[in-house]
Amino acid sequence: MQKQFDVAVIGAGAAGMMCAAVAGQRGKKVVLIDHATKLAEKIRISGGGRCNFTNINAGPQNFLSQNPHFCKSALSRYTPQDFLSLMKRYRIGYHEKHKGQLFCDDSSEQVIAMLKAECDLGNVSWRMPCSVANVGKDGDLFRIDSSAGEILASNVVIATGGLSIPKIGATDFAYRIARQFDLDVIEPQPGLVPLTFDAAAWQPFLPLAGIALPVEVETGDKKNRGEFKEDLLFTHRGLSGPAILQISSFWKAGAPLSLNLLPEIDVVSTLIEGKTSVKKNLGNVFAQWLPTRLAHGIIEANKLDPAARLADMPDRQLRNLGDAINRWTILPNGSEGYRKAEVTLGGIDTRELSQQSMMSKQVNGLYFIGESVDVTGWLGGYNFQWAWASGTAAGLAI
Ligand SMILES: Cc1cc2nc3c(=O)[nH]c(=O)nc-3n(C[C@H](O)[C@H](O)[C@H](O)COP(=O)(O)OP(=O)(O)OC[C@H]3O[C@@H](n4cnc5c(N)ncnc54)[C@H](O)[C@@H]3O)c2cc1C
Repeated sequence: MQKQFDVAVIGAGAAGMMCAAVAGQRGKKVVLIDHATKLAEKIRISGGGRCNFTNINAGPQNFLSQNPHFCKSALSRYTPQDFLSLMKRYRIGYHEKHKGQLFCDDSSEQVIAMLKAECDLGNVSWRMPCSVANVGKDGDLFRIDSSAGEILASNVVIATGGLSIPKIGATDFAYRIARQFDLDVIEPQPGLVPLTFDAAAWQPFLPLAGIALPVEVETGDKKNRGEFKEDLLFTHRGLSGPAILQISSFWKAGAPLSLNLLPEIDVVSTLIEGKTSVKKNLGNVFAQWLPTRLAHGIIEANKLDPAARLADMPDRQLRNLGDAINRWTILPNGSEGYRKAEVTLGGIDTRELSQQSMMSKQVNGLYFIGESVDVTGWLGGYNFQWAWASGTAAGLAI
């Protein structure tokens, strides 16, 4: 078995396969190493099995990082249109679902097969399943101690992703290698994750589990503010749905969330105007706007009677009720953690890497790509776009 390569890519997920294919097709001798038994499990389960593989509107504004400018170079050199051209070459059908999010018509397995075929075109060698015990550097050569024996390479690309979903093989390998070579790591945190609440405080909301509705949600201060208009889902442990997954990446422990449960209606003024009609009561007005269980939950939480007539209620009471709907402020006590998080915030500090090549500024030949780096996309295909773009940037630079 061949032992020495131009490039060893560790992690055969989205970014690793892209990088290996690009480097291989440029004539580099590439080996792709992964400890999993099943290839690219995260791509397979993504987008409910249909892989939201990019977002046509993807740009630097859709990413979180300590350095928001870092991602610009790679994203501008490998765009969503570039990935679409690849999909078209492989005749993989896709459709837009919502806000520029592109999904496969059939299955995410098609994306995996396409990337595998691209690696084959680049004559990429595979070591899988194969675990890596150590990566050392001897002069210009990296020595990788692996379960498939020693592998020597002039360049090593770390593409082992973040900590999300340990059950399917996520590890802290990238952070360990970074620290071993004295590179800074921004503390990782779960992102795109459901938020939880104190069990006793959440008790009154338990009957609402399963209810979904479009909301506006915001958190943060002027410097780091998140604002999204998406669907909210009540769960048994707290809140989820796209609105909460998006805002979770901006949420800081101890900070409240502000939710507008009826973004299209100014509830205070509509309730006060409604006082002119003798027939209108809280129950029937709210039932027009909100799912019945939620409408009753809010009325009861405010210790009011659904049969109460608007005309008989003081403005102060209606104002409180309106605020509870248009400006509901809640304090999460945590998140569901890496078990449920779609991504990992933080990672290899971008100040350590070249934005053109993704190579370490300190360690010649050592690259980090994909989710291992402190660049995290919003929900909606952005994280794969970063994997394709950063993988291509490294693949072209090696
Ligand atoms: C449930 C779910 C759904 C998602 N849906 C979407 C979506 O629809 N659209 C989107 O844009 N993003 C989505 N994401 C996020 C997206 O999957 C990731 O951001 C993306 O896969 C990151 O690519 P990566 O190559 O950096 O890492 P990964 O794809 O995670 O690949 C890392 C690879 O490294 C391997 N590895 C890890 N540790 C080691 C080790 N120690 N030794 C050897 N190999 C190792 C793993 O086995 C894996 O194959 C989703 C994530 C989850 C969890």
